[in-house]
Amino acid sequence: MSGRRYVVLMGPPGAGKGTQASRVAEEGGMCKISTGDLLREALAAGTELGRKAEKTMKAGELVSDDVILGLVDEVLDRSECSGGAVFDGFPRTVDQARGLEGLLAQRGETLDQVLIIEVPETEIVTRLSGRRVCKTCGKLYHISFGPSRQEGVCDACGGELVQRPDDAPETITRRLAVYAEETAPVREHYAATVGVTAIDGDQPIDAVTEAIRRELQPADAEG
Ligand code: ADP
Ligand code: ADP
Ligand code: ZN
Repeated sequence: MSGRRYVVLMGPPGAGKGTQASRVAEEGGMCKISTGDLLREALAAGTELGRKAEKTMKAGELVSDDVILGLVDEVLDRSECSGGAVFDGFPRTVDQARGLEGLLAQRGETLDQVLIIEVPETEIVTRLSGRRVCKTCGKLYHISFGPSRQEGVCDACGGELVQRPDDAPETITRRLAVYAEETAPVREHYAATVGVTAIDGDQPIDAVTEAIRRELQPADAEG
């Protein structure tokens, strides 16, 4: 057995996927693959892909499945992913879920687990509107629930903390609608295939991490 693990972390915008994926990936020797981060990196680097995605992201719509699958395909072969991966914010459509199965199959791998972080909508809006992110290293903060030691400055690297343009109120509303329309069906897809484990995301960050740890299967549980 390869001992590699592939875990999808689902949930609405603001559920805490990025926060939890970073923790769980590090502990489990996996890489974190966040398609949102990959798109923002492309945008910051000024690549054509990044420029094309910018408007779509600002509007809260989904970037095309081809572009997303291309990004994931590249990252999967990086050395930091040799222990497997935690997917954050991907797949967001049923076609992406099928595409992921293909990418893993090409590598002789399969998806092990799907976890979904559940959070009520009112809490989501509070989380997204208070979210801050380090411009330099991407570390996540919240002005009330997880502030930096010094306002506006990253604890990890001293970088500047900024608000994401798509965390504006109008865009939040649209992103929630897109989640309900396009991403919720991914849950049904997985419920009928690998199975889905629900995680109560409406508790403090450490308690959610603990709940995820309890559900995660050990690396050699497969086969
Ligand atoms: P959040 O989890 O807070 O909604 P992300 O960082 O995952 O935010 O995504 C930000 C934006 O990037 C999305 O609203 C969408 O425009 C784009 N995006 C990220 N991942 C995907 C994906 N898998 N498919 C399509 N678009 C994506
Ligand atoms: P997602 O990747 O699902 O969009 P994030 O991990 O970026 O979500 O979290 C959204 C915001 O909520 C961030 O500001 C983060 O610090 C905060 N947050 C994450 N998990 C919790 C939690 N369990 N309780 C309170 N705030 C949280
Ligand atoms: Zn930083």
